[in-house]
Formats: sequence, C-alpha cells, structure tokens
Amino acid sequence: MDVITDVHDMKAYVREIHAMGETLCLVPTMGYLHEGHLDLMRRGRTLADHVIISIFVNPTQFGPHEDLDTYPRDFARDEKLAESVGVECIFFPGVQEMYPQGYATYVNVEQITEGLCGAGRPGHFRGVATVCAKLFNICDPDCAVFGEKDYQQLAVIRRMVDDLNMRVQIIAHPTVREADGLAMSSRNKYLSPEQRRNATVLNRVLIQAQELVKAGEHDTAAIRQKTIELIRSTPEVVIDYVEIVHPETLACLDMIEDQAVMALAVKVGPTRLIDNMTLEA
Ligand code: AMP
Repeated sequence: MDVITDVHDMKAYVREIHAMGETLCLVPTMGYLHEGHLDLMRRGRTLADHVIISIFVNPTQFGPHEDLDTYPRDFARDEKLAESVGVECIFFPGVQEMYPQGYATYVNVEQITEGLCGAGRPGHFRGVATVCAKLFNICDPDCAVFGEKDYQQLAVIRRMVDDLNMRVQIIAHPTVREADGLAMSSRNKYLSPEQRRNATVLNRVLIQAQELVKAGEHDTAAIRQKTIELIRSTPEVVIDYVEIVHPETLACLDMIEDQAVMALAVKVGPTRLIDNMTLEA
C-alpha cells in the first residue's frame, strides 16, 4: 500500500488513475481507525475502482481548549487496518504540508453551522469545511464517503459541495455501533470502564425517542424533556445539547411531521461524545 505525505505526489498519483479512465473514492479520517471507519472504506470499494483514505488530525477544527494534542494516533496500526479492507493508498500529510507558512484561506459554510456542535465549538466547521475542500482539490475524488454519526458535518460538506459546484459526490454511511449500541468513535478510548457503561445512555435515549414518536408523540418539547430526564439520571454524563432538527436545514422543530433528526452531544467526564438518530413520524 502507498503512503503519500506530499501534496504534489498525491496529485500525480490521482492524475494517473484518472488518465486510465478509472474512478476514485476518498474516505477522509483523523486516524485511530475503528470498525466504523473500516465500514466507510468497504463502502468506498463498492463505489469506485480505487479507494484512498486520508489521515490528518486537522488542527483548524480544534478549539484552543480541545483535545488536539492528546487525540489518539497510531499510524502503524491504521496502515494495517486500512490495507486489510483493500485501501490502496493513504494520504498522510503533515500540518506544514496542509497549512504552510502564510496560509490564509478558509471556507465558511453559514447557517447550518450555527446550531448543534457549531454553537459550542466556534470555528469547528470552518476547519472541517476548509480541510475537506483542500482534500477534494488534492485528491480529486469521484465520490467521498462520510459517516452519519457526524450528522452536522455531513450536512455541512453537502452544502459546501453544492454551493461551490464541486464535482465530488458525497455518500452518507450509517453509524456503526458497538454491540451495546454506543456509536464507535476514536474518542471512546478516553472512557474509563464505568464511563463507557454510562455512555450507553446516548443510544438508549435515541431509541426511547424513536419509540415515543412511533407511539404517536410528535411534540418535540415532550420528547426532549424525557430525553433530558434519562440523561440527567446517569452519573457523570452532562448534556451539551439535545435537539430535534429538520434533516436538511438542521433548524429546530416544534413538531415532527415527517422526518426529523434527534442530535445529542454530552460530556462523559472530560470526553465529549455525539450521536444522532432519524425519527420517523
Ligand atoms: P473521524 O476520524 O472521527 O474524523 O471520522 C472520519 C469519518 O468516519 C467521518 O466521516 C465520520 O463520520 C466517520 N465515522 C466515525 N465514526 C463512525 C461510526 N461509528 N459509524 C460510521 N461512520 C463513522
């Protein structure tokens, strides 16, 4: 498997693929790969002739007091895992390669970045949109796979690709969960065994919300209230937000008429976890 750290080398690699008339799928990641990431890569293999992944812990999407320095990293392990699912090439640039001296350009997607994670993590989606725009320009993929786990991120990337007329097709992949329902995340590594058990409340409240909607409860205030109660009864879990939003605009809804997305962010001890689920009326 090829590991490319240089932007020009990456562009040349991709040019060869396109010159052969073959297609390419990109799976952007921050590494410390888990089964959720690998599932995105397997999906990529069904979509294109070649799958490239990027591993880049993007500093511009971390706030000053967030976990950039401690974010888990293990490139040797990632390389083996990616190879095991048929990835042909890893783009693994350094920070200087992506943001050299004098770097000054950022992509700002408005409106849908304001609520949910955007409210508590100012600048986060500016960093995400910027790095994805750069990755799309460097790797020129026919398609890119993103996880529904990061629902707002997916919506932001779709908006950017539409608004800036990018040629890449964005594919959404369902959230991959542990056996007890906890959404897989590189950050789960931070959890103590007890915190790990408490964190399963995220999945439980999402299922509870789905059941309430199925039973005819369409008032989002009532569903949010039950959700908040259950989370508050769990030790060490502190709510950042609990929202029920429109699936595309991410605007908060009063009533669920057709489809809605329940999105959650909590802190379990110092670790911030997010999850979401579609609610069907
Ligand atoms: P990250 O490395 O956390 O930036 O994630 C890279 C990609 O993997 C993003 O598109 C995420 O949405 C996706 N992803 C992360 N965890 C999961 C999961 N449990 N299920 C599905 N996709 C995921």
